[in-house]
Amino acid sequence: MNAGSGFGMGRGGGRGMGRGMGSGMGDTMPPNFAQQYSDIPAEGQVPVNEQREIDMLQEQSEALQAQIAQVNARLQQLQQGTASTGLIAVVATDRCTGCGRCVSVCPTSAIVLEDRVAKIDQNRCTGCGQCVSVCPQKGIMLSAR
Ligand code: SF4
Ligand code: SF4
Repeated sequence: MNAGSGFGMGRGGGRGMGRGMGSGMGDTMPPNFAQQYSDIPAEGQVPVNEQREIDMLQEQSEALQAQIAQVNARLQQLQQGTASTGLIAVVATDRCTGCGRCVSVCPTSAIVLEDRVAKIDQNRCTGCGQCVSVCPQKGIMLSAR
């Protein structure tokens, strides 16, 4: 998030201190002094490495939350019978008596009765098979889309 500014200010402060100390201390300052202390963050700043870890963990957290949302959505679809299965219900119209049981159980309201015969809306049917299991006439089957 703010890694750039933290890094820049840390290095800048270090350089300034190195030059200042160098002019006053002469040969007593170790050659790597400025480099050694250049990444110390100023007061109130998050150290560069910690900021990178914070950014990385925030990205991971957001990715995991997105995955959890997808899992929950899929779970809800499966529990409610609204997940698409790649199958579709087909009515054997010569068997249908228009009892309406399939209409009552369909979770996506994909079935209507027309002239006392069940009719499936292909755009709504998810192939869950609930209508198949309740039809007393064995008048509905599942077929590949
Ligand atoms: S399989 Fe039957 S109950 Fe399931 S969505 Fe399709 S029409 Fe509705
Ligand atoms: S349950 Fe079977 S018989 Fe009853 S309306 Fe549906 S398809 Fe027709």
